[in-house]
Amino acid sequence: MDTAETVLASRGVRPTPQRVVITEYLLNTKSHPTADQVLEAVANALPVQLSRATVYNTLHTLVEAGVIQEVYTEPGGCARYDANTERHHHFVDTKNGCIYDIPFEAVPSLDKSLDDNYKVSNYTVTFFGEPKQGQPKQES
Ligand SMILES: [Zn+2]
Repeated sequence: MDTAETVLASRGVRPTPQRVVITEYLLNTKSHPTADQVLEAVANALPVQLSRATVYNTLHTLVEAGVIQEVYTEPGGCARYDANTERHHHFVDTKNGCIYDIPFEAVPSLDKSLDDNYKVSNYTVTFFGEPKQGQPKQES
């Protein structure tokens, strides 16, 4: 797996300590955490405690640079952060709120009628339900 430093360098982002710890945390979780969950996880990772503003600003910088992406799984819901920047879809477990990555190819391409009327630049599909047994297999 790529290290946080490698990923930041590949996007031309200067590896400040806070960027490294946040990127590292996101690379190592598949849970699609909210900004507050990221804050909770990394608050004490450095000698100086990370403030909420620092974590929010750092997430913003990382999204802008394409190191991570923002994911919205419900209208008006809060942003979640994902180090998987490949195109993919999501499955939300309605029992426990867990979010799983679904391969982009799992969803058939757009119907021609949509293509005819809109210039689609990007799309993502979110499924809701329950995994059939235990933890679904995850691509890595
Ligand atoms: Zn994802």
